[in-house]
Amino acid sequence: MKKSIYFLALSSIFIGTQNLKAQVSADSAIIKLKEGNERFIKGKTIHPNQDFKRIKEVAAGQKPFAIIVGCSDSRVPSEIIFDQGIGDLFIVRTAGQVSTYASYGSIEFGNAVLGAKLIVVIGHTSCGAVSAACKIPDVPGHIVTLINAIKPAAELAKKMPGDLVENAVKINVAMEVKQLQSLEPVITKAIKNGSVKVVGAVYNLNTGQVEFLPDNYMETIQK
Ligand SMILES: [Zn+2]
Repeated sequence: MKKSIYFLALSSIFIGTQNLKAQVSADSAIIKLKEGNERFIKGKTIHPNQDFKRIKEVAAGQKPFAIIVGCSDSRVPSEIIFDQGIGDLFIVRTAGQVSTYASYGSIEFGNAVLGAKLIVVIGHTSCGAVSAACKIPDVPGHIVTLINAIKPAAELAKKMPGDLVENAVKINVAMEVKQLQSLEPVITKAIKNGSVKVVGAVYNLNTGQVEFLPDNYMETIQK
């Protein structure tokens, strides 16, 4: 009974997306994002899918090609840094891209209902939330939730040579990737059947460039 209600709800949400283009594979989505960021840093942006025709096209339903899990930082707007448009990216943003249950539900929705095959966790250089977690200051209110979530990355970074915050930014992203890769039941199932990829990336505030982290980043730093 529960299952049939679930599928009924899903199919009703799917109505309206049929006129949009076919779903984009995870690998093709990475290429689209890399090409968009390349245009952005070279000053050759084309601002795709931002006209009235596109607004009309996606009004009846969306089919974003990637899910972006990014920081709330005002300097890291996903559509701009990847040179994408309306209906292209399904975005979940919190400070330090810390994911909690509402974020998990949003990510699962982007995949299971909207069909996005790629999940990108994107941190950025000089992230304030990561920086705070490295210093462990006395923070007010709910900000402590962010600090506690990032603290394991900060502690690991303290054992490494090099810049503490920049290392912690990368480790935090890599840990969040692992967290999402083991997110039961929707994402783990999608990864198992080969349809979904979760990758990590770091945006450089000074250059505008997005660096995608290797899949084995955590293994390389723990050696
Ligand atoms: Zn940040």
